[in-house]
Amino acid sequence: MTTNQQLFDAASDVMPGGVNSPVRAFGSVGGTPAFMVSAEGSRLTDAEGKEYIDLVGSWGPALLGHKHPAVIDAVHAAVDSGLGFGASHPSETRLAELVRSRVPGAEMIRMVSTGTEATMTAVRLARGATGRKLVVKFAGCYHGHSDGLLAAAGSGVATLGLPGTAGVTEAQTSETIVIGYNDRAALEQVFADHGEDIAAVITEGVPANMGVVPPQEGFNAFIREITQKHGALMIFDEVMTGFRITEAGQWGASGRQEGWTPDLFTFGKVIGGGMPTAALAGRREIMEHLAPTGPVYHAGTLSGNPVAMAAGAATLEHATAEVYQHIDSAAEAVATGLGEALDAAGVDHTIQKAGSLFSLAFGTSATGVHDYAQAGAQEAFRYGPFFHAMLEAGVFLPPSVFEAWFLSAAHDDAAVEQILQALPGAARAAAAARPQG
Ligand SMILES: *Cc1c(COP(=O)(O)O)cnc(C)c1O
Repeated sequence: MTTNQQLFDAASDVMPGGVNSPVRAFGSVGGTPAFMVSAEGSRLTDAEGKEYIDLVGSWGPALLGHKHPAVIDAVHAAVDSGLGFGASHPSETRLAELVRSRVPGAEMIRMVSTGTEATMTAVRLARGATGRKLVVKFAGCYHGHSDGLLAAAGSGVATLGLPGTAGVTEAQTSETIVIGYNDRAALEQVFADHGEDIAAVITEGVPANMGVVPPQEGFNAFIREITQKHGALMIFDEVMTGFRITEAGQWGASGRQEGWTPDLFTFGKVIGGGMPTAALAGRREIMEHLAPTGPVYHAGTLSGNPVAMAAGAATLEHATAEVYQHIDSAAEAVATGLGEALDAAGVDHTIQKAGSLFSLAFGTSATGVHDYAQAGAQEAFRYGPFFHAMLEAGVFLPPSVFEAWFLSAAHDDAAVEQILQALPGAARAAAAARPQG
C-alpha cells in the first residue's frame, strides 16, 4: 500500500470522504488523492516525496505562489505579537485601506472568515437595507454554501429556486430566484414580475465555479442598470476574481472602464493570502446598516484575525502590476498549449477564458459555454483520464472539469514548460476516453 493510500484510508475513517471540503476529493476523477505535506513557489510535495506543478493554487489564494517570503515574514511577525486580541487592532484598518485603494467602491469593509460568510452577510445586508425579500442569482454561480444560495438551476424563465442539496428546505430557497447566466431577457422578466420585491441580484464577477463562463459583452453593466432602475442592489461576488483578474478584480476589467460600480462586493481567497479571511464591502450608506451602526446583525469571533490580516496585506502589497502581467502571460502560454495539444489529439473542446482564469470544456466547440446548461452538457468523462495523465506527469490540476486553473507569480518558465510537456500525453488520454457504463 502506498503512503497516500494509507493516509487516505485513515482520513476516510475519521472524516466524511476523507476531506474537509468536497472539491478536494477525487470523486469525479477517481483514484487515490495525493496527500500534500509542503508547498513552495509553484510546487507542491506529497507524502511520498513526489513533486507537482500546482495549478490549484489553494483554490485561488496563492496569487504570489506558495510560501512567498514577504507573506511568511509578515505572518511570523504577526504570530510573535499574539494570535488574536478579541479587540480592535491596527492591521484590520491597514488591509481595509489597501482594498479600498484598489477598489474605491469598497468605501467601507467588514472582514469575515470565509467567502460563504461574506456572501451570506451581503444578502442579509441587502435585505435589511432595502426592506425587500427576494434575491436573484444565476444558475451555476457559486456563492458559498449558505442555505438560501444553494438553490438549483431553474429552466427557462424565472423559476422559484428549488434546493440544490439535501438539508436545505424549499422555505429556505423560496426567496431565491434562479435564472440562466447571460440571459438578459430572463432578468428583465424577473424584474417585470417581481421588481418591487427584489432586494438584490448577486453574480460572480466572472462565473468560474461551473468552469469559467465569461459574461457576454455588457452583461454585468446590464445587471447594474436594471438593479438601479428598480431600486435593487447589485452584489458583485469577487471571492474568486478579486485581486486576481486585475489588481482591482473583475470590476477593474469592466466597471472601471464602463463607469459602473456595484453596491456591494464580496472578496475572499486572494484577500487572505492563504489565511482564512474574506470580506464584504461597498457603499458607506449601505454598509452602515451593519451592526453596530445599524440594525443588520453580523459578528465573528475570528473576524479580522491579525495573522490573517498580515497575510492578506502582505499579499496585496506584493501583487504589483508586474505580477499581474506575469500571471496573464503564463496563463496565456498554458491555455494556448492546452488548445494545441487537444487539437493535435483531435479532441473537440473549448477553452473558456477570462483574464488569467481559464478552464476546459470537452465537446462544446459547436456552441461554446455561455451558461450552466451548456457547461453540464459537455463530455465530462474525458476529464478523469486527462487529469490522471497530468498528475502522473507531475502536474496537479483541480480534480474536476468544472473548476478553473490557477497560475501564480511563481509559475516561471520551467514550471510552464513542465506543464506544456505533459499536455500532449494527457490530450491523447482524453481522446481515448469512453463514457462510463
Ligand atoms: C470560493 C467562493 C465562495 C466561497 O468562499 P469560501 O471561502 O469557500 O466559503 C464564494 N463565492 C465565490 C465566487 C467563490 O469562488
